[in-house]
Amino acid sequence: MNSPASAATARIFNFSPGPAVLPLPVLEKIQREMVCMPGKGVSILEMSHRDQAFLDILAATQASLRELLGIPSHYKILFLQGGSRMQFSMVPMNLLRGSGKTAEYILTGSWGKNAIKEAVKEGPTKVIWDGKADNYSRLPRADEYQSSDAAAYLHFTSNETIEGVQFLDEPAAGAAPLVCDASSDFLCRPLPIERYGLIYACAQKNAGPAGVTVVIVRDDLLAPSQDILPGYLSYRGHADEDSLWNTPNTFGIYVVGLVARWLLDDVGGLDNMLRRNRDKANRIYELLDESPDFYQGHAQRESRSLMNVTFRLPTAEIEKAFLSEAERRGLRSLKGHRSVGGIRASIYNAMPLEGIEALRTFLREFRDSYRK
Ligand SMILES: *Cc1c(COP(=O)(O)O)cnc(C)c1O
Repeated sequence: MNSPASAATARIFNFSPGPAVLPLPVLEKIQREMVCMPGKGVSILEMSHRDQAFLDILAATQASLRELLGIPSHYKILFLQGGSRMQFSMVPMNLLRGSGKTAEYILTGSWGKNAIKEAVKEGPTKVIWDGKADNYSRLPRADEYQSSDAAAYLHFTSNETIEGVQFLDEPAAGAAPLVCDASSDFLCRPLPIERYGLIYACAQKNAGPAGVTVVIVRDDLLAPSQDILPGYLSYRGHADEDSLWNTPNTFGIYVVGLVARWLLDDVGGLDNMLRRNRDKANRIYELLDESPDFYQGHAQRESRSLMNVTFRLPTAEIEKAFLSEAERRGLRSLKGHRSVGGIRASIYNAMPLEGIEALRTFLREFRDSYRK
């Protein structure tokens, strides 16, 4: 078996959209603590979720997220299972069903479409802006849609992982609670939490492993009417039991806590993380922009994602050659989503600058080799 040192040096640059790259210091800490959590006599995988040792980990993960994002005390932080797809249903079940109101959705790409598919099962749903006309290559301007103060909520997808369009600030919203699917850009920048009613994010893109979803929800949205929902599907039930109504993903919560600590201690907070993310994304977009005839970006400039860079090459054959040569160089998982094709470089928080530079070099050399 590989020694820890050779395991770390054998790592390639992983551009997977999710589950995705994690910070190396986090992986190394997991490795150090795996057989025995210091002072606890057992590993995280073997601890009861009711043990004080785990309760301390849960509290520390929540405290780190509160510190990172400045989450006020009138918001709960929940750790749920079922991924973000479960949230596509839980949001309308808890906030729309039986309310007599309509849920509004800003639709900027594939994940938003999936969210709406579930919402219509729960109650009246209205798409107040749809990016279809531009093939989901841009975000709306504030004057292109009208949200209602009387809506049950206004939902948007902060980063469309498949198309690569991202809100780098919140869409204009009225009095209705703003609900965000932040699955693929959670913790990529500071968030003005008080503008949100609810934020959800599966961890496996930018915040941890698969199997745990972070939900940040304002207390007034935990209505008694949720008590009639099946136990697992009620936010209020999970909030009352501090995410311990049933056995949560204990390992996932532990890793999310380590990622949050990494952001606080090693990166120095989310302002720094955003600065790094802008720098990393700019380096790639800049290279693509040098040769728009060869690298055709999908997202329009002002809507470009810092997390998922999407583009096409002149032909499907050239894309195939690009992907196999990339793989040979240790640049993994650059294939676009099966629904849209092309190339997608997912460059989440944990993608190191060396990975960005390796990709830049490859983009330049591959282009030049085709132009000779
Ligand atoms: C990945 C993703 C999802 C789906 O997450 P699951 O955990 O697989 O359910 C939903 N929304 C966005 C924006 C995503 O990137």
